[in-house]
Amino acid sequence: MSVYSVAVDGPSGAGKSTLSKAVAQELGIVYVDTGAIYRSIGYYIFKMGIDPKDVGAVVGALPMIRVDMRYSEDGMQHMLLNGEDVTEKIRLPEISMYASAVSAIPAVRDYLLDMQRDMAKRCSVIMDGRDIGTVVLPQAQVKIFLSADVEVRARRRTAELEQRGTPKPYAQVLEEMKERDWADSHRETAPLRPAEDAVVVDTTNMDFQQSKEAILQVIGRQLQL
Ligand code: C5P
Repeated sequence: MSVYSVAVDGPSGAGKSTLSKAVAQELGIVYVDTGAIYRSIGYYIFKMGIDPKDVGAVVGALPMIRVDMRYSEDGMQHMLLNGEDVTEKIRLPEISMYASAVSAIPAVRDYLLDMQRDMAKRCSVIMDGRDIGTVVLPQAQVKIFLSADVEVRARRRTAELEQRGTPKPYAQVLEEMKERDWADSHRETAPLRPAEDAVVVDTTNMDFQQSKEAILQVIGRQLQL
């Protein structure tokens, strides 16, 4: 097979990015983190002091925003916001809600659609997000919906935040995760839901290695490797 796409969707904290990164490395394909693109828009809105729920103000700001993706030699995805590398800044916990709020705006999603599709045209990718299998790459050869119980996801995210040096209490992480789950799956445009032809992988009772194997198995099966 020449160029193929693997779409990985699911709620936050299901392990999409860590697993997709590892699978990309194993298969020698490019990992595209689409959440980082929404986070970059969210970061701009945050920095400008704009209310992310003010649709008119966010849409009005779009022409001022240029988002680019660059890959370093180690395969790491860097986000450039009007030329500035914001890869680290977009991970600040307060940016999650900004990303979620701006991502509910149809004009924001349209604005970012071609950029995501272009990546998949150029090379084989594993792309993670919320609507990759349903909207961005409906023709993807492999579609995976990664999920896990919200408590398990919140525990994983709490550990990750601690590792990053931006700790937060578990109870707060859990509350915010439930809020973001609800917002992401109840919005009108491109809500989070499995594509009809997606294979659901539930990682609640799996460790990293088991989850990675499960994903590789699905990919191998779908691509008939
Ligand atoms: O995946 P991550 O947590 O970095 O994404 C941040 C937010 O961006 C999500 O909560 C979601 O609202 C939004 N998003 C989206 N569609 C995508 C990727 C992310 O709406 N494809």
